[in-house]
Amino acid sequence: MPLPKIQNKVGQQLVEIMFEPNDKDFWRAIILYGSNQSTYKMGLGNLLIKYADDNLEKITLDELAEDFFELYQNRIKNGKPQSKRTTTGDLQKGVTYVEQEITSVESNGTNKQKSLDKIRKRALEEMVLKRFNTLFQRQIPKPFYTVSSTHLILSDNLRTLFSDKQNSVMSTEVDSRWDLLEFGFFNLKNEDSVEIEETLEFVIQKKKRSQISRLKPILNGYQIGKCFYCHEDLYDPIHVDHLIPRTAIHHDEIWNLVLSHEHCNKYKLASLPPKHFVQKLINRNESVLKSDLPLREELIKVLGMTPKERSDKVWSQYLIAKEKGLAVWGGSETFNPAKDDLFRGLIQFYNKTYWSRKFDKIS
Ligand SMILES: [Zn+2]
Repeated sequence: MPLPKIQNKVGQQLVEIMFEPNDKDFWRAIILYGSNQSTYKMGLGNLLIKYADDNLEKITLDELAEDFFELYQNRIKNGKPQSKRTTTGDLQKGVTYVEQEITSVESNGTNKQKSLDKIRKRALEEMVLKRFNTLFQRQIPKPFYTVSSTHLILSDNLRTLFSDKQNSVMSTEVDSRWDLLEFGFFNLKNEDSVEIEETLEFVIQKKKRSQISRLKPILNGYQIGKCFYCHEDLYDPIHVDHLIPRTAIHHDEIWNLVLSHEHCNKYKLASLPPKHFVQKLINRNESVLKSDLPLREELIKVLGMTPKERSDKVWSQYLIAKEKGLAVWGGSETFNPAKDDLFRGLIQFYNKTYWSRKFDKIS
């Protein structure tokens, strides 16, 4: 079946961004894209990073089951669901094996070893270990581990990616995605609406005003760790920018929020970005939509069901801002800091002063 036109466009964009994807890209895509029936991928991802950081070459499946058990034991203390649930009367369906076994051990005094065996077989061997190394239902070219009848064997690429606390930002992405999934699974049960905090630190459940999930690391993942405007690597302090200025449209909806350098944000201020950034934003949103719960649902709710509706909605908001007479950033529709040598030079400068500031603090 041929893909609809607009999807081809988005697909094209992804191919361009992820041309010759490396291990880092594949890892991110596994964590950030695709559907999740449960949080197992995040649980396994969390442990894989830990094992690689400890420079382990392999671990027995029994030990893995034990670590999985403990990880989830801590995770579900606050009662957050780890899968999509359906409730019929008093009966709740869809509770994961891991949750069932933990409850069984904690409340009914079931023999822990028996439960670990079940977790190893049903949750790990038959489910997540088979699925983790796949993307859009295909095997990735260089799997992050292999599984024997007794062991999980870490591949070199995984060990290289995460040894000695490297790429710790990606570890935060796993935990944030985990938070978000829990929120999504929880939210399925009620009609509460979602609000995105302006600083992007949290998704908020409107009625209860409780802060649910860290969001910034997730958007960082979708921007592959790059500033939205100049495309240089992001570093702290990461700023959240309203692409179409807040002064014009008065809201903090997530579709309009992007991450940028502090200085890129300051340069742009409340001016209107050139049009190509609006298209880039539309593409970014479509790529976020490839991942479910709860961001996909939120974007559909606010922008519309189809790519066309969503695109039209964003452009209409851009026009509203334009009619208010806001100046265009860089003074022209073609201005692109990512292609501007002077601007990139400034970034290097800011980058250096930033690091030297950090260095001063330490000494
Ligand atoms: Zn920047």
